[in-house]
Amino acid sequence: MPDDLWALRLPWPRIVGGVNSRGEHDPQDGFSGANISYRVGQKPELVAHHRHLLMVSLETADWPVVCAEQVHGNRVAMVDAGDLSTLQSCPAGRVIKQTDGLVTQTPGLLLNLVFADCVPIFLYCSQPLTIGVLHAGWRGTAAQIARRGVEAMVESGATVRDLQAIIGPAICSDCYEVGPEVVEAMAHLPGVPEAMRKTGQYKVDLPEINRLSLIAAGVRPEAIKTSSLCTRCGPIPLFSYRGSGGKTGLHGGFIGIQPHPQGTPPSSSC
Ligand SMILES: [Zn+2]
Repeated sequence: MPDDLWALRLPWPRIVGGVNSRGEHDPQDGFSGANISYRVGQKPELVAHHRHLLMVSLETADWPVVCAEQVHGNRVAMVDAGDLSTLQSCPAGRVIKQTDGLVTQTPGLLLNLVFADCVPIFLYCSQPLTIGVLHAGWRGTAAQIARRGVEAMVESGATVRDLQAIIGPAICSDCYEVGPEVVEAMAHLPGVPEAMRKTGQYKVDLPEINRLSLIAAGVRPEAIKTSSLCTRCGPIPLFSYRGSGGKTGLHGGFIGIQPHPQGTPPSSSC
């Protein structure tokens, strides 16, 4: 792995995480590079090595990791420390079945989903400190996982007007030609006609459609940032399902709350 492990780092106070880059890899081999999934056939020792470097970089090497099965649905699970013992073990930590989004208020837990073209969405509320990560491919986008993620944050006590969101690296519209079934599945979503272009074939802007879904769910437009990186056309190397003809490793979206605030707040002069 190169020195620069990360394509995106999350900027929020007390929050660790981001999306790892693919790093050095053989362009002819869709699996080569800093894959973090045990489910794509890469040697487990190599996956563990990639994951370890990333965890050390985040200073979360001893944190429990919570993953999701990721079935292209819209279920978002709320996780707390008490759930850990009840969750099924997986090579990366614990896994929640039939789920594509994770939300927590528990410090010292690392939430982790995997991606290769699909859209990672990170959610944050400072008070009460609440975080989330969502996996939005076209099916999850059509099923409005972005809205479900916002609802799960609010059900946890967050206020929708205080939410912030970062839409991470994903396939761009230039790289994402789709068939009529995708167009039909998303036709009901807010702003979709503008986020699709038909020039011989439909091209769909998945990050933009999710941004519009977040806004429709009440998130302020100015509180949403979208990465300019494309998983397929770069410029930072990432895994791309389309770019690798379906034989691909996966990069990770990670988010967690540090157990203790860094530094001390300024003392009052009153
Ligand atoms: Zn692209």
